This record gives sequence, structure tokens and C-alpha cells, in this order.
Amino acid sequence: MASEEKVKSYLAQWFHLGKKVILGKTQEAICPDPVMVMDHYSPVFETYWQKILSVNGKDFYLEGTDQTIAELLSSQWEIHSCSRCQMPVPLKERGIPSGSCPCADLSNWPNLDLPIPHPPINTKNYLHKLQLRLTNNSVKSEQV
Ligand SMILES: [Zn+2]
Repeated sequence: MASEEKVKSYLAQWFHLGKKVILGKTQEAICPDPVMVMDHYSPVFETYWQKILSVNGKDFYLEGTDQTIAELLSSQWEIHSCSRCQMPVPLKERGIPSGSCPCADLSNWPNLDLPIPHPPINTKNYLHKLQLRLTNNSVKSEQV
């Protein structure tokens, strides 16, 4: 079963790439901006997340997927990494793939030049990597 925290970071990471969560009934599209503030989820993201949780994810689904958030929170689904882009994708617990990753319709993804969006837990690590990259880049540009 996918934990609430996993589903939350799954949504956050896709929001980073511009994916939206759709409310099936009204076709209302949700994409909080920004997703994160410093190393925390942003208040607007938390507000939407609470809104989704208040109905247990019923009728909400990530753009480009068939599974509702409610299904992901149920015992049948797990969150795994896409073999193509490393982004989190829903997978049936018995190992039957859902068929597609939301990345399928992103023409600019996977983009190896960009870091994969991470949930806040990895922010320190991410910032460290970013810092390393920036340091490397500035060394490069000094050499030019
Ligand atoms: Zn993918």
C-alpha cells in the first residue's frame, strides 16, 4: 500500500514538471505554484493536499494517469520509479504495471540536464548536488 507521504511526494514531484491533478467531477485542474518553499511543501500545496485528503482522494487523479488518488491510497497500489525517467509511477502491488508513466506525453522529459524533482526529505542532498554543479560550472566558465 502506498503511504500518504509517498502519494504526497509523488504528486509534488509531478507538479514540479507542470502536471496537474484533475478533479473528475468538475474537471477542475489543480497545480499549486510554488510546490515548495525552502525545504517544505508550500502552504498552497498543503491546502490542495488537505482538500484531496478530505475526500480520501476520491475522483482526483494525476493528469496522464488512470488511477485516482483514492486508488493509490488503497491497498492495491504502490509507488515505484519509472524505468524511463526515474519519476514515481503507480504500480499494482502484484507487480502488474499500470501501462504508462505520466512522462509519456512530456516531450521534454526525461531531461538529463535537469535534476529529477525531489520531495523535501532529499532537499539537503539536492542542494548539495546543486552546489557542486554550480561550483563546477563556475570553474568551467572561469577557464573559458
Ligand atoms: Zn516516466
